[in-house]
Amino acid sequence: MRTHSLGFPRIGRDRELKKAMEAFWRKSISQDELLNAGKERRLENWKIQAEAGLDLVPVGDFSFYDHMLDTAVTLGCIPQRFGSPDCDADLEAYFQLARGGDHLPAMEMTKWFDTNYHYIVPEIAPYQKFSLSSSRLFAQVQEALDAGLKPKAVLPGPFTFLHLAKSTRPDYDKWNALDDCLAVYGQIVERLSQSCEWIQIDEPILCLDTPPGFSQRFVDAYTRLQQHCAPAKILLATYFGAIDDKLSLLTALPTAGLHIDLVRAPQQLNAVAKTLPKDKFLSLGLVDGRNIWKTGLPAADKKKRQAAEILGNDRLLIGSSCSLLHCPVDLNSETTLAPEIKNWMAFAVQKCSEIATLGKAASGIDVTAAFAQSDAAAVSRATSPKVVNLGVRQRVDDITPDMASRKSPFAERIRLQKDRLQLPQLPTTTIGSFPQTSEIRATRRQRKIGELDESAYITAMQSAITECIHEQETLGLDVLVHGEPERNDMVEYFGEQLDGFCFTTNGWVQSYGSRCVKPPVIYGDVHRPRPMTVSWTTYAQKQTAKPVKGMLTGPVTILCWSFVRDDQPRSQTCRQIALAIRDEVTDLEKAGTAIIQIDEPALREGLPLRKQDWQEYLDWAVQSFKLATCSVDDTTQIHTHMCYSEFNEIIESIAALDADVISIEASRSNMELLDAFARFHYPNEIGPGIWDIHSPRVPPLKEMVSLLHKALDVIPAERLWMNPDCGLKTRDWPETRASLANMVAAARALRK
Ligand code: GLN
Ligand code: ZN
Repeated sequence: MRTHSLGFPRIGRDRELKKAMEAFWRKSISQDELLNAGKERRLENWKIQAEAGLDLVPVGDFSFYDHMLDTAVTLGCIPQRFGSPDCDADLEAYFQLARGGDHLPAMEMTKWFDTNYHYIVPEIAPYQKFSLSSSRLFAQVQEALDAGLKPKAVLPGPFTFLHLAKSTRPDYDKWNALDDCLAVYGQIVERLSQSCEWIQIDEPILCLDTPPGFSQRFVDAYTRLQQHCAPAKILLATYFGAIDDKLSLLTALPTAGLHIDLVRAPQQLNAVAKTLPKDKFLSLGLVDGRNIWKTGLPAADKKKRQAAEILGNDRLLIGSSCSLLHCPVDLNSETTLAPEIKNWMAFAVQKCSEIATLGKAASGIDVTAAFAQSDAAAVSRATSPKVVNLGVRQRVDDITPDMASRKSPFAERIRLQKDRLQLPQLPTTTIGSFPQTSEIRATRRQRKIGELDESAYITAMQSAITECIHEQETLGLDVLVHGEPERNDMVEYFGEQLDGFCFTTNGWVQSYGSRCVKPPVIYGDVHRPRPMTVSWTTYAQKQTAKPVKGMLTGPVTILCWSFVRDDQPRSQTCRQIALAIRDEVTDLEKAGTAIIQIDEPALREGLPLRKQDWQEYLDWAVQSFKLATCSVDDTTQIHTHMCYSEFNEIIESIAALDADVISIEASRSNMELLDAFARFHYPNEIGPGIWDIHSPRVPPLKEMVSLLHKALDVIPAERLWMNPDCGLKTRDWPETRASLANMVAAARALRK
């Protein structure tokens, strides 16, 4: 029985790869130095896996930027505007694809399924040509062989590649490219088959809803690929869900092996094992590649035995559920976690050992000690007083429908709010954060390392807030914000103040390119011991006669951007967070805050991959938002904010949030997004973003006015607000002042 991971994090224990890439971009190291840094990473990662006891090492999971980009490069599928660079020889040209260059727009980037990893979106032009254009993968296979290891080549499959690609012309069907694309895959597989026993081809698309005719095309294509494969075996890897409706496909597939995700979709084991022809291999994804918790080894071993009864031991492989790319690298780098909680966790390095242990158990090696340790950790976690807060559990049990519903319908509330707030038509506001100057960052850093005491810190932050309020008054904005200078990150800031959260010091996960994030960990029942934002908001309100919006992150977003406990349903954890935010909303209202905004930019990305699962998610997500917001009186105005996702499909649920005002990013799509809101007759107030805050560019007054005219075509003036697309923390003051001045001027012009 072979053991393997589907892929290993590339960045390195200390983010060595990130540092090397950025040094290359700064021109402080040469291309050769960067290439060497890459090679070092690969060898190190393979060594970790081999030493843990895994039989196969993945080759092809490494990338200097992104694996989809590398696949596009290998297939010669490079957008025409970049010419035809040799990306193996010219890393600068390679990075240009991802990051753009002089007058060359970068390729787009978007989220990899429902993870927080972003891939580069391949572009398929009409009559796109494909040709084998990189030998990177073959060279890396040789590297592994030279190191005395058994390489398993890994690459995204043609269907997943094309599914995730975009056609450069809306009227051109990207699937026309399948045949040419397959021809190159054939060449790749043929070359790999000479040195690899296994070739892992990732087709997570098998776990999605697919169009009619998909299965036949899929079988035909893999029948073709298989002809290039002997003597190697293709391991078709699925993950992030169940194969479900495509189960029948398995009997027709010519490929030697199949990998299934038994963490996300444990229920599929029996059906798959029974359907799979007896001469095929099944790889069991038993160790979670998406989270940081230890695997329950005895339970995983039981699943393996269940599969073995049907398929026999020697037809099984044991692996991670998906690539370990989504986990931090090494738990041993953590020095500040409470030992008790740390003992419940496993990062990529530890997960490799878990996989190896399961393999040993299967080959009859004594693993009693490892299983006992796994059990002990599970017992410790299940019984720890750190995890349980009976008061919180009782509160969740006691939730009643009226807690998630405003006192009066929108039409009545808005009248009362308008009376109270006395805002002009087309009120102007911002999304919350203002430029985080180096001074502000330095102040936070000094506080963190203890160089600044609490009272000096508060004074410094208050002066940043005062300044920010004055700027907004000078600009003539109508609804002000305190500017969020005290917040490092919109989730971490709240997590740090809530019970049930903990933080790693080195738990970095690649988000895109060289960018890494360090998600908080939710290990226990969530509870708010004391107010989190009230003093900052009330301080800001004291500086001005205009209304200051209170600013909070919503429960769904906090959930989506954290490592979430796996010992209770996500919905339950989300409700607990919702109650904590509800307490904050209540306290803000008590302190006199008339407008409170609860950001939910992650609402869309929490959506399950299969449509059949959407409603259940949307129900508890909407309920959580409403739990967080509905304690307030009719006269308190609730805002929400969303950005950078596709809202059309969930517009009903957005309306069901029943926020009095929603601000959404819209300027990049030229207000197209508003069509969905108009078609649906979205009932409440809307602030479509009229300034794309992702570049320092200052939108001219005329442009803002014209965007607003577009908005006015579909939304009546009484319900329209004016704001930027998103928060301004990454911007500098000069462009912020200039752009907001234009926004205020546009509002005034339109009011006239
Ligand atoms: N209030 C947050 C800010 O302005 C919202 C950020 C977001 O939407 N991601 O920074
Ligand atoms: Zn935003």
